[in-house]
Amino acid sequence: MTPQNFLPITPHLPNGLATVEHDIARACEDARRDRQSVTLIAVSKTFDADAITPVIAAGQRVFGENRVQEAKAKWPGLMSAYPGIALHLIGPLQSNKAREAVALFDAVHSVDRPSICEALAKEIDSQKRRPELFVQLNTGEEPQKAGVAPGDADAFIAACREKYGLSITGLMCIPPVNEAPAPHFALTAKIAARNGLTKLSMGMSADFAIAIAFGATHVRIGSAIFGTR
Ligand SMILES: *Cc1c(COP(=O)(O)O)cnc(C)c1O
Repeated sequence: MTPQNFLPITPHLPNGLATVEHDIARACEDARRDRQSVTLIAVSKTFDADAITPVIAAGQRVFGENRVQEAKAKWPGLMSAYPGIALHLIGPLQSNKAREAVALFDAVHSVDRPSICEALAKEIDSQKRRPELFVQLNTGEEPQKAGVAPGDADAFIAACREKYGLSITGLMCIPPVNEAPAPHFALTAKIAARNGLTKLSMGMSADFAIAIAFGATHVRIGSAIFGTR
């Protein structure tokens, strides 16, 4: 289907997106925040172009993917068909994918170790592209999870800036699945504030309203928009 014949016949939002939009607006109102202060990242991982196209046609322009290869296969075509798309990498990045990541993504939410900082700094310099960078925190200190431990965060952020010359936009966290997310969001907000960072990537389908109450500026929402994976 071409964008030309698709756009005019989609006057309504796909259901999931409409509900999420409504709930974000409500959470902003409850938190006395401006809706514009929260960016919705529609997480399209595992979904193909046919599932993504109606969401783009409904006006959504910011999308998240967790794998560089999958994003490379899906997005260049969609991006040339629909102008103004921003793509965020929300999953782990390996140093040997930094070149492709800097070329394709407008933001990387998974900066968490020196080797990635070094690879990103090199590519940002050579490609003259500057994706927004979020340092990922492992607030639950879960051994299997990526991210910087809270106790190491200040030193890591300082190293990103001073040693690697990176401009850090904010912090990202994924709370442990079986814990109340609020303390994790609060801790992330606190670490951001003391490091002069204003952007917070936190909140997923199950907990984005709570994240917004704790200051999230970027919510990463997949299943509530696209359905179960
Ligand atoms: C998949 C994913 C999301 C979206 O999760 P949902 O529960 O489907 O909203 C958000 N953040 C990260 C890092 C993810 O990998």
